[in-house]
Amino acid sequence: MRKVSIFGATGSIGQNTVDLISRAPTEYDVVALTGGANISQLAEDARNTGAQIAVTAYESRLQDLKDALSGSGVEAAAGQAALVEAASRPVDWVMSAIVGSAGLAPGIETLKQGATLALANKETLVCAGPLVLEMAKAHNAQILPVDSEHSAVFQALVGEDIRSVDRIVITASGGAFRDWPIEDLPRATVEQASKHPNWDMGQRITIDSASMFNKALEIIETKEFFDISPNQIEVVIHPESIVHALVGFQDGALMAHLGVPDMRHAIGYALNWPNRRELPIQKLDLAALGQLRFIAPDEARYPALRLAREVMESGGLSGAVFNAAKERALDLFIQRRIGFLEMTDVVSSVLDRFDGAKGHIDAALTLDNVLQTDHLARHWVDEAVLKRAG
Ligand code: NAD
Ligand code: MG
Repeated sequence: MRKVSIFGATGSIGQNTVDLISRAPTEYDVVALTGGANISQLAEDARNTGAQIAVTAYESRLQDLKDALSGSGVEAAAGQAALVEAASRPVDWVMSAIVGSAGLAPGIETLKQGATLALANKETLVCAGPLVLEMAKAHNAQILPVDSEHSAVFQALVGEDIRSVDRIVITASGGAFRDWPIEDLPRATVEQASKHPNWDMGQRITIDSASMFNKALEIIETKEFFDISPNQIEVVIHPESIVHALVGFQDGALMAHLGVPDMRHAIGYALNWPNRRELPIQKLDLAALGQLRFIAPDEARYPALRLAREVMESGGLSGAVFNAAKERALDLFIQRRIGFLEMTDVVSSVLDRFDGAKGHIDAALTLDNVLQTDHLARHWVDEAVLKRAG
């Protein structure tokens, strides 16, 4: 039996992973499941899968979790240190599906034990790509991408030499506001931004799809994971979300990966890699689909794409600043304290401030520095927003 853990098990990716694993209960021995405030879901999945330990991110919820697990024999734990402890328990495969930079430390702990890390948490590579990849190499650990675009590229590259790649094209649905007049964007509400045209995902990534901060993170993720130059990475809007990514080779061939928008494909691929197995996913009916459209993204509508290019140029801790500032700006948008377009303005101002302060900040890409920078960038967002309000 393969020993597996799922970090962020109660979320959208986590639940899809629990679903796939639960379909083959004799094949998997579940070690750790983690979640946040949804204690009943966490406890139910821990009981059903016979997990060794369940961890909630929130220390204040430990007693609730203990109560929900009473009599089950599943250990209960809470807090950030408990998450990292759970990640140190020996396993073969880990799903990293916590949302945000909170996924970084457990992911690094997983790599230290040489386990395979199925990486849905793109923030890990955005904040600390070179550090994480070095860690994987040092411990002979495999990282498998779970973001649909990156899984698609990974699959298109099987048997190919990365040096023969000319470009990588990742697709974007364009999000909830693709067809809105730009003048209306300042008034876009949280409810409107939380409706994705094609994918059913967690609220945060859904709003990030509307602003294309998600695609901005994914451009950086592509650069880090495939070690390709930023100018070889393209984004194209593809309203149907059927082609997930394309790899262009030196000879002009363009290899596309197609499938219905169902994350269980990318999750299942990472679970079964290097093999393929039947998955409970609808097969694509091309004739029923009729047509696939591709449209160049308008950077005036999606300024986050430009910010991603600046971040890649700066390198070092800029990715950590960018991601943390984005996460905090998104919190403030969800709390209705700033408007939809203000998210990009604030993130941009924090990146500028970081550029100006560079000489005064220890730039070494260590976990401690990434976490400290993450903290600082969130604080700067709050300062920038207060200043705007004042
Ligand atoms: P989600 O919000 O549905 O779930 C997030 C999970 O993380 C939950 O289990 C939650 O309890 C946990 N969590 C939240 N904050 C935490 C914290 N501070 N510490 C520990 N745990 C915490 O998110 P999701 O949509 O499943 O996305 C998870 C990750 O996968 C994100 O990085 C996202 O960008 C990436 N991703 C998601 C999809 C998708 O289809 N949902 C697709 C591609 C990539
Ligand atoms: Mg994606």
